[in-house]
Amino acid sequence: MQPTGKALGLDVGLNHFYTDSNGEKIDNPRYLRKSEKRLSKAQRQVSKKVKGSNNRKKAINRLGRAHLKVSRQRKDFAVKLARCVVMSNDIVAVEDLKVRNLVKNHHLAKSISDAAWSLFREWLQYFALKFGKVVIAVPPHFTSQDCSGCGEIVKKSLSIRTHVCKCGVVLDRDENAAINILVKALRLLGYISNTVGQTEINACGEMILYLKLETVLKQNRSLKQESPSL
Ligand SMILES: [Zn+2]
Repeated sequence: MQPTGKALGLDVGLNHFYTDSNGEKIDNPRYLRKSEKRLSKAQRQVSKKVKGSNNRKKAINRLGRAHLKVSRQRKDFAVKLARCVVMSNDIVAVEDLKVRNLVKNHHLAKSISDAAWSLFREWLQYFALKFGKVVIAVPPHFTSQDCSGCGEIVKKSLSIRTHVCKCGVVLDRDENAAINILVKALRLLGYISNTVGQTEINACGEMILYLKLETVLKQNRSLKQESPSL
């Protein structure tokens, strides 16, 4: 497969499935939301019924089917999106979810989105190996607070959706994070040095990628191909 010369950073969010470093947002599909709602309703129904009763058995049956439907839809969504992202880029940078999960969160919507995200991540990895591309996970620390233009820390609470920095950079909060994720990844891979600023990366990013990509792709091809178990 011909290299595309493109690299993409993805920031996972609650309001959107992800926001990428070009500012594009991918929504959770509406049908998936619907099924997830049905799933949590079915879960409530089971806990309401008397243990050992026929009604409980029926409710458990409905819950099982709701689970199956949601997992099928989630897989379908993850496979299609992952394939598309990997085909149109040579390097895909994501947050390291394992690190992120150290912070415990019992919120249901949050755990659902994390499940969908992990599955998507596995398929990204699968297609990367299949098509000789690179998917890299970076530590998520400070990706939303740092300015992607100048590197200064701009503290903001979750409710603040726009990143505004003294250096003049005004970006959607998640887009700023996605750029930071991409830059971290390119540094880890050695495409850019620690002293290079964002403007220079934008100007010459594709060129650097083209030059160094061949080596990375060769290394990547030697890795074994494995299909996610899910
Ligand atoms: Zn700045």
